[in-house]
Amino acid sequence: MPHIGCHISIENRLEKAPARGRELGCAAIQIFTSNQMQWRGNPVAPETAEKFRVEQAKNKIAMVIAHDSYLVNLASPEPVKLALSRKAFIEEIQRSQALQIPYIVFHPGSHMEKGVEYALKKIAESLDYAIEQTPDCNSMLLLEITAGQGTNVGNAFEELIRIIEHSAHPDRLGVCFDTCHAFAAGYDLVSQEKYDETFTRFDDIIGLHRLKCFHLNDCKKPLGSRVDRHANLGEGFLGWEVFKRIAGDDRFAELPMIMETPGGDENYAREIRALKTTK
Ligand SMILES: [Zn+2]
Ligand SMILES: [Zn+2]
Repeated sequence: MPHIGCHISIENRLEKAPARGRELGCAAIQIFTSNQMQWRGNPVAPETAEKFRVEQAKNKIAMVIAHDSYLVNLASPEPVKLALSRKAFIEEIQRSQALQIPYIVFHPGSHMEKGVEYALKKIAESLDYAIEQTPDCNSMLLLEITAGQGTNVGNAFEELIRIIEHSAHPDRLGVCFDTCHAFAAGYDLVSQEKYDETFTRFDDIIGLHRLKCFHLNDCKKPLGSRVDRHANLGEGFLGWEVFKRIAGDDRFAELPMIMETPGGDENYAREIRALKTTK
């Protein structure tokens, strides 16, 4: 059974997240380690970090994922924005280290009309810089597949692997597969045949060993729309069967699977229960 869970929002009270996760039935949780809409993120106080780890063990949360701030653009062509993004990303790595979080999920970046290739190289440079500035940290950095809205890069497997290959630290990088984003980007998962095709392609291009996390979200928009709108599981264009298939796929049995669906905590509890008990 994979580690099924959801994103937990706890304003400024990190140490409360594991207990909330347990209440909702989570075996894994995803959190923002600071306010995701602000540039300034404070370091995690040692007492908070200690409390968080105790709470994680007590509430039997097998795995915690950090999601990076939405403000960060590691591909930004503007020097000031790029510097802010890199600084915020480094602070994210440091907070995650303090909390002993093994994976940080982030959106690769936006090229802002500078072109995809420019962005892929810039992101790899930013990642290398951040990794080299944090020699005592070891969280893996997971590139999240995007829907390809606007000038976002990372909506094709080929782009994700190019970032990894441009980096001097490919062993520190992995991928988070968001089902809604992938579908909006044009990767079909609906029939068994298309599902197999998509993961065979993933394996050929990126390698399934680099897949470290799922975001389980249904999609409000049709295949290839390039629009990122999450739907509740079974209520979008993907459909319930897809989530059953992923949760029951032996290749993914050890992975965290995080929902970021609409409807708040009550809904998360219902969806987690449904996915855990489904055959
Ligand atoms: Zn996601
Ligand atoms: Zn999304």
